[in-house]
Amino acid sequence: DAVLRLDGIQKRYNPGKPNEVTVLDGAQLSVGAGQVTALVAPSGAGKSTLLHIAGLLDTADAGEVAILGDIMSGKSDRARTRARRERIGFVYQFHHLLPEFTAIENVVLPQLAAGVASSVAEQRALELLDRVGVAHRAAHRPGELSGGEQQRVAVCRALANAPALLLADEPTGNLDPATSDQVFGALIELARDTGLAALIATHNMDLAARMDRTVHLRDGKLEDG
Ligand code: ADP
Ligand code: ADP
Repeated sequence: DAVLRLDGIQKRYNPGKPNEVTVLDGAQLSVGAGQVTALVAPSGAGKSTLLHIAGLLDTADAGEVAILGDIMSGKSDRARTRARRERIGFVYQFHHLLPEFTAIENVVLPQLAAGVASSVAEQRALELLDRVGVAHRAAHRPGELSGGEQQRVAVCRALANAPALLLADEPTGNLDPATSDQVFGALIELARDTGLAALIATHNMDLAARMDRTVHLRDGKLEDG
């Protein structure tokens, strides 16, 4: 069964107005466990809109979003929020780490919010930081880390509660090529080892080529290749 399935997704902004724009027009996608998929499209094509709909932060005008086989379209806000918290992790271009907290605390806090005991949460946080090569920075605050280190901590935070699906919006857009390569490398390896499904929006075709699959968003539809 797919971790994420999008079926016939339609999304239009400002319907009926002169500035109406159809962003998604029957978008179709299935992402399986352990599969890292690159989402490639020019700026303004609708990547963020698609990720927000897939991440249950926004709703489509028509079509179906299923997470781990559960159809979320038409469910209550409460059910969608719960599915988002339990099953989906997000990474953004700008990491939004909490500046007053250390790297490990940034990865521990979402787990405490989910009711995980602090000793277990710390253990898991350290394991994650170690997996992406920043365990030696566990006690540093974000301002004391390089851009690539910050982004790797943000990946750990997104994965803190072991989501089935990771959604990333230009996660390395502000990093130099070598650094973004490091961040993506860590992420791809982690997904393969843990069965995480990932959908990663990027303009970087070299990075996209390293993922399992690339889908292009064209005229509101998703096409393989
Ligand atoms: P991308 O992430 O690929 O740059 P977006 O999903 O952010 O694209 O935007 C796709 C299109 O939809 C753009 O033309 C954008 O201006 C428009 N758009 C995005 N959000 C809104 C909104 N809230 N209201 C109106 N138009 C929007
Ligand atoms: P919590 O209240 O536990 O932080 P939320 O349901 O508010 O959880 O959010 C779950 C995830 O969705 C978080 O990773 C959060 O950063 C992200 N998120 C929430 N609202 C938005 C939004 N408007 N745009 C982008 N991401 C969001």
